[in-house]
Amino acid sequence: MIIDGKKLAEITRTSLAETIAKLNFVPGLAVVLVGDDAASAVYVRNKDRAAHSVGIAARTIRLPATTQQAELLAVVAQLNADPDVDGILVQLPLPKSLDTQAVIRTIDPAKDVDGLTPTNAGLLAAGQPGLVPCTPLGVIKLLEYAGVTLRGTRALVLGRSVLVGKPVAALLTAADATVTVAHSGTRDLAVECRRAEVIVAAVGRPEMVRADWVSNQAVVIDVGINRLPDGRLVGDVATAEVAEIASAITPVPGGVGPMTIACLLENTLAAALMRRS
Ligand code: NDP
Repeated sequence: MIIDGKKLAEITRTSLAETIAKLNFVPGLAVVLVGDDAASAVYVRNKDRAAHSVGIAARTIRLPATTQQAELLAVVAQLNADPDVDGILVQLPLPKSLDTQAVIRTIDPAKDVDGLTPTNAGLLAAGQPGLVPCTPLGVIKLLEYAGVTLRGTRALVLGRSVLVGKPVAALLTAADATVTVAHSGTRDLAVECRRAEVIVAAVGRPEMVRADWVSNQAVVIDVGINRLPDGRLVGDVATAEVAEIASAITPVPGGVGPMTIACLLENTLAAALMRRS
């Protein structure tokens, strides 16, 4: 089975649009884009379009690559103070001259729709409610959509980044899966993968997970987005051959990517409702 992330994202957007239409206010999302990274520009455009499609007032603040740290912090502080802004997302990666962690720390945790501030990361680690990073939230929703029972399931997360691997592992643990986190220091990745009933691949290595790494009937979520020299976009999983073995798999594109954006919209609504409650 191919797990259709585009379809699930559409279902999520429809339900969000219905909820937002009934509100007596318009949720606001501000996206800050620094520099002229082509991929980031595409992501930001897609986020903006998706937000408008559900009735969220989205605006993008574009800053030049030469922006100084203090200027960026001032922009974030302004958005923190703006009552019309419910969600703030600073598009990563930032130009190397800027201190990403310092910028993230400046975002008001109540508006942190990317779930990356230390406050929200801490709440997730502690198993308490907070704003959860969008891609990991999308991964869990895709597993639910595919009908996977996570309780008691042996899950392997390939990658331990703050953005994806760690929060995915925390969410799977919260859902009562038995979780292994693999990384560049893992001794025998293929053996670890073959033991898993659910694999979430977030390594950033094109088609690294091969068919002989995957056990029969495993469910595979491919977070990877890798551009090959010939221009093709592939995930971290060799989709065609793994699909022969796995019981369900997400495609790239059309799997985790659309759900990341749908979860950003959900987080914006959640932040708006929390701030007003
Ligand atoms: P990072 O580079 O931050 O992290 C990669 C992780 O993979 C690290 O934990 C690293 O281990 C591990 N790793 C790298 N190489 C190997 C290897 N050969 N064997 C085992 N482990 C390895 O990447 P991200 O987590 O930010 O992103 C992962 C992928 O997901 C990328 O392709 C990215 O483009 C994609 N992505 C997709 C999104 C979407 O919306 N679909 C959103 C965000 C990311 P170590 O910690 O030891 O260095």
